[in-house]
Amino acid sequence: MTSISFVSPFFNAENAKKAATSLKVPIIVKDITGEHLDMLLNPKHGYGSGMNPCIDCHALMLKIAGGIMRKEGFDFIFTGEVLGERPMSQNKQSLHTVAKESGYADYVLRPLSAKLLPETKIEKEGKIDRSRLLDISGRQRKRQLEMAAQYGIKDVPTPAGGCLLTDPCFSARLKDLLRREGKPSIHDIELLKVGRHVGLDQKNKVIIGRNEKDNNILRSLDGGKYIMFVPKRVRGPHCMVPRGISGELLERAMEICASYCDAREDGEVMFREKSANPGREIRAAYSRSNRPERFIGDIDKN
Ligand code: SF4
Repeated sequence: MTSISFVSPFFNAENAKKAATSLKVPIIVKDITGEHLDMLLNPKHGYGSGMNPCIDCHALMLKIAGGIMRKEGFDFIFTGEVLGERPMSQNKQSLHTVAKESGYADYVLRPLSAKLLPETKIEKEGKIDRSRLLDISGRQRKRQLEMAAQYGIKDVPTPAGGCLLTDPCFSARLKDLLRREGKPSIHDIELLKVGRHVGLDQKNKVIIGRNEKDNNILRSLDGGKYIMFVPKRVRGPHCMVPRGISGELLERAMEICASYCDAREDGEVMFREKSANPGREIRAAYSRSNRPERFIGDIDKN
């Protein structure tokens, strides 16, 4: 037996790796960024409450797991899905759809809910004893926690897996990005995770660090479609503005950035370009009133 976990810009395999280590089960960690992003742009079954295309995502993961199963010579795939645990993506119909669209329906077992689901080929063939499978359903995790205690598993992760696509603020930023960019780059997506994002017009936005941590991350993401400016002589945020924007938008962007600097009202802030034209300097008028009232994703109100 081996375990499989997946990584993309939206989720990682840290919990799975910890679990695999503590259970002493080998783990394959597969980066599915490319396939996942293609699917995310146009999921056949749509999105959940955020930008989470859970049915298509599960089907994709099972399809890739199925490929690994075939290649490595395993007999079947089993998952931790529980019937009814998620109203949209884990009802009976969705579990059926996910298995079918993976292309490996005959090989997908959900041991926790198997007795509530149609018998699979692997059970019929006697590879699995159906009588030992379970009939858990619903959102309560009482029986799962009892089983964990019975098997001496102490570190049980919470059911929310930390997928950014279920986060309302991140989802709003991603939606905005898809509207602006069509198909975004990984760099664009990484930038969604940091700072304040302020729309300048339909196409362009400025990204402003909120604190030292954000500034450090922005420095590490410097480049691509953006150029970075940092304030000179005063404390303030690092800012990313789109390469090649008009002088008018650049001025507006720098005034917004200046409004977060430690400067005197009606004074000005000098910014130095860090990338593209290192050394270029831009002067921006300071006024606290230039702070926008709304942000893309609307999570940072001050
Ligand atoms: S929560 Fe995220 S990782 Fe999980 S199935 Fe949905 S989209 Fe995929």
